Amino acid sequence: MRGLYIHIPFCRARCGYCDFPSSAGREGLIDGYLKALDAEAALYQGLRGTFKTLYVGGGTPSLLSPAQLGALFTTLEKLTGPAAGLAESTFEANPESLDAEKAALLKEAGISRISLGLQAAQDRLLKRLGRIAMPGDFLRAFKNLRAAGFGNISADLMCGLPEQSQKDFDESLDWLLGLEPEHVSLYALEVHEGTPFHAAGVKEEPEAAAGMYEAAAARLAAAGLRRYEISNFARPGREARHNLNYWEQGEYLGLGSGAASYLDGERRANTASMEDYTEAALSGRPVPEQYREKLEGRAKRAEKIMLGLRKTAGIELPEDIFIEFGQEIGRLLAAGLVERTGGRLRIREDRLYVSNAVFREFV
Ligand code: SF4
Repeated sequence: MRGLYIHIPFCRARCGYCDFPSSAGREGLIDGYLKALDAEAALYQGLRGTFKTLYVGGGTPSLLSPAQLGALFTTLEKLTGPAAGLAESTFEANPESLDAEKAALLKEAGISRISLGLQAAQDRLLKRLGRIAMPGDFLRAFKNLRAAGFGNISADLMCGLPEQSQKDFDESLDWLLGLEPEHVSLYALEVHEGTPFHAAGVKEEPEAAAGMYEAAAARLAAAGLRRYEISNFARPGREARHNLNYWEQGEYLGLGSGAASYLDGERRANTASMEDYTEAALSGRPVPEQYREKLEGRAKRAEKIMLGLRKTAGIELPEDIFIEFGQEIGRLLAAGLVERTGGRLRIREDRLYVSNAVFREFV
């Protein structure tokens, strides 16, 4: 199983919490960037036809105009063949830039799954986050997607936001569940250095977030969306296959600025600078990298455990791995953070929220 990730680093405005490689108000650079993507994709023609999943993320890929989307899909098809032939193809969108025409165009291009950003269902909270789209815009975009024939829609929701009460969160979740999405991703607010929130001194609210997260898991389960990964809930058969491949330490190729790849046991990531990326790719020079490292031996096995433990089903491990990591696993079992059933190790369902404490053992 191998996945293809494409990064589109453009947004209409910058959200206060965002630390993704993306920038706002630079739509004039999109055409050049798409040409750079085409040039980088040409370097990987040897992998043509080996991809099972596609994920176009960002940034805000739906910001691309219909003509730009056409150019992007022409590039992608050279690597993947028609998107309709893949096991899954996901496209990230924000409601303000997803109209009926684009929804139809994505469907026509063979995209099978849409990930749509909601975050909260209250205008005042969304404005506080610096989001452009309000719940009414989300509703319009969601309806456009259903009308275009999309039967697999994921929505992003956030908890632990500044000025967000438990009641606000419950209302957001109920409002979203009323639309019957197939998948929900739920994230607690993290305040990273370099973001507007960090500069403004916004604080994380881990305790409030934990309460919202646990309440959400029960509500989502009652609505038929099972938690299958720390932050992800899906109806049966609607789990994100592209992301499952990451958590199973499968291979993937990432194209675009800031995009990471894992091929032949080697991890690397392109420069996060869109300008440096575009200039290098267009002039035929190698794209500058943030890092490149070969993952081998114990480090590779430790990473496989960490990734596998993200899934609620945990990970099946041979006995020699239980012996090699005996001390780490022993401490986690003693602390009641994980449980072992035969050869399977998993984080206890009621401890998923503190999974970082588990991962620290394997770093
Ligand atoms: S839309 Fe997403 S990628 Fe763009 S600024 Fe907001 S959080 Fe960042």
